[in-house]
Amino acid sequence: MTNSFYPPVRTLMGPGPSDVSSRVLGALSRPTIGHLDPLFVGLMDDVKRLLQATFQTQSALTIPISAPGSAGMEAAFVNLISPGDTVIVCQNGVFGGRMKENVERIGATAIMVQDRWGDPVDPHKVEEALKANPTTSVLAFVHSETSTGVRSDAKTLCALAKSAGVLSIVDAVTTLAGIDLQVDTWGADAVYSGTQKCLSCVPGIAPITFSSAAIERIQQRKTKVQSWFLDMQLVMGYWAGNAKRAYHHTAPVNAMYALHESLIMLEEEGLAASFERHQHHHEQLVAGLADLGLSMAVDREWRLPQLNAVCIPEGVNDADVRARLLQEFDLEIGAGLGELAGKQWRIGLMGYGSNAVNVNRCLTALATVLGR
Ligand SMILES: *Cc1c(COP(=O)(O)O)cnc(C)c1O
Repeated sequence: MTNSFYPPVRTLMGPGPSDVSSRVLGALSRPTIGHLDPLFVGLMDDVKRLLQATFQTQSALTIPISAPGSAGMEAAFVNLISPGDTVIVCQNGVFGGRMKENVERIGATAIMVQDRWGDPVDPHKVEEALKANPTTSVLAFVHSETSTGVRSDAKTLCALAKSAGVLSIVDAVTTLAGIDLQVDTWGADAVYSGTQKCLSCVPGIAPITFSSAAIERIQQRKTKVQSWFLDMQLVMGYWAGNAKRAYHHTAPVNAMYALHESLIMLEEEGLAASFERHQHHHEQLVAGLADLGLSMAVDREWRLPQLNAVCIPEGVNDADVRARLLQEFDLEIGAGLGELAGKQWRIGLMGYGSNAVNVNRCLTALATVLGR
């Protein structure tokens, strides 16, 4: 007979998933009900409203997609872009590369604006690219590059898109609830996230929001969206205001209970207080790392408080350290991705996991393993 699986209690300080509170895990284990049950429909309305507050938007097309953050990315791209379109994609880490892949699979052309991994997207280069490519229909960029721990200036980039008459797609997977993101004020057109980063919910759901200009673009499409599951025209039928909900797919009912609970916790704390908490514990961690002789990989101005890129000192074996942290301290931190593998650690202080206990646990564990 196969044994049941009982995972250990780990402290998750990597790039996600982050620590999930017992309150959210408790919500997950409540009785499953039908996904068209009137009570479930009521819960989904709450989720929509709470997500609007979190994205700081009034948009009615603000919904949780029943799939991980990558599906949120794909939903934004396949709905707003048609074959033959020209799209400017900013890349300063791993996730910009995935955006390019999405554009090309649609049969559109990706004009790449490259920046060094570890730097923010350069708005001047974006401005030049928009001027040089007047047929561009969409500008896409990552607000919080989880692969490098870098924030880009989303407000300025969205404004550049707007003044050029193009729509913006913003990856806010690691952003949401961790740092400020003003979807309506900044004029972002399609913004997606994930539940397992600063929302501290279980993985597998992608909150997304579309502006009225984006909805208009979707309604005016001449070709069908290539993905049936992610076609917003169909999904809108399920979510639409007061209209009777039609069956589209079976929502992950219990995971939605968990998202609902994590959004309630965020509402109780307040969005601004959540941003402050992330910043406060980030500063504590940076100070403690400096005491251990460890330095940060990103310029102070562009550091993400929720994802701390740390330079691995000369002569220290990356894999050995992470393995010992996991075995001896049940502590997970992230490895460097792509060209930063072996050069950096990524220490997440996301959502529920952004607290003083985690900061101290991580510093103590690193001090022990590094012998400092
Ligand atoms: C985690 C992440 C994703 C992908 O989310 P998944 O839930 O793993 O599919 C996309 N973009 C960024 C910036 C991320 O950090």
